[in-house]
Amino acid sequence: GFFLGNRYESTAAFDASSPPPPPLEKYEYQAEVSRLMDLIVNSLYSNKEVFLRELISNASDALDKLRYLGVTEPELLKDAVDLDIRIQTDKDNGIITITDSGIGMTQQDLVDCLGTIAQSGTAKFLKAMKDSKDAGGDSNLIGQFGVGFYSAFLVSDRVVVETKSPKSDKQYVWEGEANASSYTIREETNPEKLLPRGTRLTLYLKHDDKGFAHPERIQKLVKNYSQFVSFPIYTWQEKG
Ligand code: ADP
Ligand code: MG
Repeated sequence: GFFLGNRYESTAAFDASSPPPPPLEKYEYQAEVSRLMDLIVNSLYSNKEVFLRELISNASDALDKLRYLGVTEPELLKDAVDLDIRIQTDKDNGIITITDSGIGMTQQDLVDCLGTIAQSGTAKFLKAMKDSKDAGGDSNLIGQFGVGFYSAFLVSDRVVVETKSPKSDKQYVWEGEANASSYTIREETNPEKLLPRGTRLTLYLKHDDKGFAHPERIQKLVKNYSQFVSFPIYTWQEKG
């Protein structure tokens, strides 16, 4: 017993070089978000390509916020990375990655921004959707109002958000799935995955939407919907 106990302790001490990953914390969506997700996932809305416009607009907002706050808080800009947006496609696996070097999100921001609806436009969308449902339903409202971040679920089964705010020394990972009532947040401890600053969204596309993971398709959408974004947008294809 003593020997085993000792061995156990010393094993634990050696393992300190690669400590166990921090726990996965599970959160329930606010009821309105669940309703919104339901409407998005089950809608027959056909103009799904608006997801890219929404996600690029969030990336651009995050870069704007950083630039603005950096004027009075220059320490936020201490990681001297360019202010840009990078979109990578992996067509073999149907994955799109959108990375910005903007303001990022703290753990609290993730809960506040991606688990609740703060946005008044989305609240209006839900109201309009309810009114039109009473009158037969209208999936075109999705495009009319824009459903922000959640539009990722128009084309994705699973979305992973890795994010590092310059106000925190920790990076966090948010994960959500279409048709789920909860999401998870964990701290990132793998040094290879750390971002200098900003947010990386990984979209695991639905089977029928994998065609979006082509650089030509992305470039066309960027040209059509995001031509007035004031930060450079780079696109490239993952080597197979
Ligand atoms: P809106 O952009 O109208 O506020 P969204 O649903 O598009 O609504 O996004 C919700 C919130 O999530 C944003 O206000 C922002 O705080 C946060 N967010 C989303 N994407 C990013 C990002 N790439 N970087 C930093 N924050 C983000
Ligand atoms: Mg938005």
